[in-house]
Amino acid sequence: MSVVQTIRGPIESGELGWTLSHEHLTAGAAGMERLPWVFDEAEAASLNIEALGRVRQAGIQSMIDLTPLDLGRNMGLFRRVAEADTGVHVVCATGVYRWVPAYLMGREPDDVADHLLRELRDGIEGTGIRPGIIKLAWDLEYRLHDGPAGFTPRANLERTARGAARAAKVAGVPISCHTLAADELGTPLLDIFEDEGLDLRAVTIGHSNDSQDPEYLLRLVRRGANVGLDRFGVLRGEEEMARRAQLALGLIRAGFAEQVCLSHDGSPYMRFGAPRPPNLDCWLPVPTWEVPWLLEHGASQDDVDAVMVRSIRRTFEAAAAMAAPAK
Ligand SMILES: [Zn+2]
Repeated sequence: MSVVQTIRGPIESGELGWTLSHEHLTAGAAGMERLPWVFDEAEAASLNIEALGRVRQAGIQSMIDLTPLDLGRNMGLFRRVAEADTGVHVVCATGVYRWVPAYLMGREPDDVADHLLRELRDGIEGTGIRPGIIKLAWDLEYRLHDGPAGFTPRANLERTARGAARAAKVAGVPISCHTLAADELGTPLLDIFEDEGLDLRAVTIGHSNDSQDPEYLLRLVRRGANVGLDRFGVLRGEEEMARRAQLALGLIRAGFAEQVCLSHDGSPYMRFGAPRPPNLDCWLPVPTWEVPWLLEHGASQDDVDAVMVRSIRRTFEAAAAMAAPAK
């Protein structure tokens, strides 16, 4: 057991239950709440409260919100959702989204770690709400490594990942990564984390079900990390949903159920790109489609328990163990 911070305060890891590993109450960009034609806090809150009620009915007990400041994290929204007491534990994140914010460019890993530890220890923006996890995002920008030494996008990402690893070890929280699966960016991330002495069981390499290569996923889980099969939804169509469910089943059959996390990367109030109509059912496809599909195709109830409960729980417990004072 370990302590997990949620937007309503600390819980025990054993209370997490069925958990969606990568979602967003909202997502867009830092400062969007200052643009009333983009973001309406009351509307965002009422849609989220409704959507959380629906997902609770479908058996989900916890959700990891992977929206750091630069992806539009909104503390007013968290506070309203916390007050509504939806019955779903929401864990929120510190960290950085794609590219590195200007104030972290060229900074040393220890400076990045200090930056993250401020939120992890003191809470976010004076609310008393503490993040339970660190989010990192590595995408197309990792390809850019031309430019002034130490200031290339790749160099900034690498130093930030080192800083995140150091903060994770001090605070005892897991790291969850958005990765460009086509470029297999989980591999260089795990190399850095390993070099920093991080227990890779505290790491989730997300968006891995965008990969078309099951061997890549096996390489990640064999190193001890979790893989986030966290982009799942009806908009992709039944054929693609079945392909993604098959990827999960393959890892389960290979004996890695406890290292597979399922989720949607969805939000009922998405402000990423053109506004989308509210989708109050955005968090239902995993519990109502993918889990039944897995059971129909040979997964056991224990396998489902492993992917829905134990996989994400072990990342919190492995992280907490790193920070525990040596006896
Ligand atoms: Zn996401």
